[in-house]
Amino acid sequence: MNDQIYSIDLAFIAAEAVRRAEDYDAFRYFVELDERTDAELDTLVEKIAAPIIAAIDCKQCANCCRSLDVYLTENDAQHLANGTFIPLEQLLTEQIDCDRAAENEEWGVFRQKPCQFLSGKLCGVYEHRPESCRMYPVFTPDFRWTLDEILGGVGLCPIIYHTIEQLQQALGW
Ligand code: SF4
Ligand code: SF4
Repeated sequence: MNDQIYSIDLAFIAAEAVRRAEDYDAFRYFVELDERTDAELDTLVEKIAAPIIAAIDCKQCANCCRSLDVYLTENDAQHLANGTFIPLEQLLTEQIDCDRAAENEEWGVFRQKPCQFLSGKLCGVYEHRPESCRMYPVFTPDFRWTLDEILGGVGLCPIIYHTIEQLQQALGW
């Protein structure tokens, strides 16, 4: 049983990410040079992240829903339309921006931030949320080569913050 308490003090985590920006940058190069194979590193990261993911209650946080651009596929949009009974055309007019998404080679992105479907700290369309919401945060595969992107969330996502903290300890950083 994992009884460790992981802080979800978002102000502290945001401040730490700023304070340690250079440290994280150096850590990225350290990981690139680590002798483990990509697969071994992925396995280690997943082993470290699993209990942290299990212990942190995202319903007490919801910072990603407030802070991130949420990209979605056409299938996501159709699934959302079906589940919410909001016509797809209306979603595309009012809530999904395909032009801005195309700039990043994506199909669509929610227009609003925080997400318009967030109610307090709960997702109002949980069963119908986009795949990117279901997946976040993503550590693997290719942890070593996506670490730069992952570290972009270290100051906003407690799961990322604590996983990187513990990984640093595990690698002797
Ligand atoms: S759809 Fe739900 S899970 Fe996704 S960003 Fe909005 S509130 Fe969060
Ligand atoms: S995924 Fe991270 S930022 Fe999003 S709710 Fe969970 S802990 Fe918070």
